[in-house]
Amino acid sequence: MKTVPSFWFEPRAWINGSWHKMDETIAVHNPATGALLANVSRTDVRSVNHAIDGAVASQKSWRETAPATRGNLLQCAAKLLIERKDQFGRLLSAEQGKPYAQAVGEVEYAASFFQWFGEEARRLHGRIVPHPEADREFFIQHRPIGVAGLITPWNFPLAQGAKKIAAALAAGCTAVWKPAESTPLIALALAPLLAECGVPPGVLQVVPGPGSIIGKLFAEHPAIGVLSLTGSTETGAQLMSAAAPQIKRLSLELGGNAPLIVLRDADLEFTAEQLVRMKLFVSGQVCVTANRVFVPREIEEEFVGIVTDLLRSKRVGNGLSDGVDAGPLIHERACRDVQAMLDESVANGARIVYQNQSYLADPQLDHKAFFPPTVVTGVDDEMGLSCKEIFAPIIPILAYDSVANAIQRANNTQHGLAGYVYGRDMSQCRAVANQLEVGIVGVNEWRPLKAEIPFGGIKQSGIGVEGGEEGMREFVTTQVISLPKPIVQI
Ligand code: ADP
Repeated sequence: MKTVPSFWFEPRAWINGSWHKMDETIAVHNPATGALLANVSRTDVRSVNHAIDGAVASQKSWRETAPATRGNLLQCAAKLLIERKDQFGRLLSAEQGKPYAQAVGEVEYAASFFQWFGEEARRLHGRIVPHPEADREFFIQHRPIGVAGLITPWNFPLAQGAKKIAAALAAGCTAVWKPAESTPLIALALAPLLAECGVPPGVLQVVPGPGSIIGKLFAEHPAIGVLSLTGSTETGAQLMSAAAPQIKRLSLELGGNAPLIVLRDADLEFTAEQLVRMKLFVSGQVCVTANRVFVPREIEEEFVGIVTDLLRSKRVGNGLSDGVDAGPLIHERACRDVQAMLDESVANGARIVYQNQSYLADPQLDHKAFFPPTVVTGVDDEMGLSCKEIFAPIIPILAYDSVANAIQRANNTQHGLAGYVYGRDMSQCRAVANQLEVGIVGVNEWRPLKAEIPFGGIKQSGIGVEGGEEGMREFVTTQVISLPKPIVQI
């Protein structure tokens, strides 16, 4: 059993390089046990404005810091995160509920973004374009937008922040970060680490608090030039409309409804192993997780049998205990919502094949926050399990008769974030992948997301990308200067 580390930070807002106590607090609990971890300051409106002012004040000197220097500071953050991954991993597991090994994986994933954008900082090239008139030329340059407002969810509370902070700071923006209400601790843990690397006060501010109030404030504050949100599609729409009067730049990573298509020639053992891993990862509370599993009707029974046997061998429990494969959901309310979705589908003909309730064996857990990993068959395209983002370890099986039919149904959603194809014939896998209306496809791979690639959704899954060369573009504007060519007589 791992322990919660003692805090190396204060549970307060981080503004201009120091901790700020507020009158009100938000209680943060370990979802697995219900234990109180901390009462974290709830940043009031005056203090959020103060944080934005500080980010504005530090903007000029940060923008004018050499890109290579900015990059080095970010690479330092990557290094320290890796060195301290046990400490960060234990805190993350306690606060979010995910198993320790997954939490450490998230710390490494977060570090990879600091490393990547630390390297990319020096590659924000402009270019010179010939002018149609012989005595002129165009300079094209990318300039930091200014202050970025960052809003992140609770499922990857460190990595989602790291992706945005690293890209924004690499581009020369300063940032005000509002972490999710349920998981502010890991955000506060990161702030002094960046300061230790030499990131100046005011360049990153952390303001825990309610999304509806701080999000609106970010959207309406004229000094915030770009808003980057990872959250639900509903929240994205609200933020977009709040930002509309100022035509504010938005970068939105929103909900998904990913299809996973098992082709007839797929290696069923391998596919089942990857599917179970994916659905137990953060207990299915992942926007890119497989939400609908399309299986050829003639192999459905065999595949479901393999998946069920595998799921039976897994252990659900406290993320800080050894040998746990999946933790709780983020809170009891999430369990109730998912149960309602499952009940509705069952009332309409879906069948629960198996549920893993291994967490019941541990009396020290808060069982109300756990949802059993579940296999459901007989799911059709109209049921809630198909139409909505499940955000729980439920594996809904949808039988199909032809690949064309599976693709058409896979695309029949307003979301377009991720998709998965499993099969042996690579030309067929590639052809299916090409036809999926999503931002990223994993072929025989359950987690293709990496710092090196641009990832973003289409349709109602978002606007813009994170990661890759493109990730920094979310935080810059493009300016063209048309100027006379210097004529020098030699
Ligand atoms: P989730 O269901 O994953 O919690 P949300 O979209 O509700 O997704 O939350 C993601 C982040 O968005 C959180 O930090 C939350 O506080 C914030 N948030 C919630 N409502 C709003 C809003 N109206 N405007 C801006 N941010 C919001």
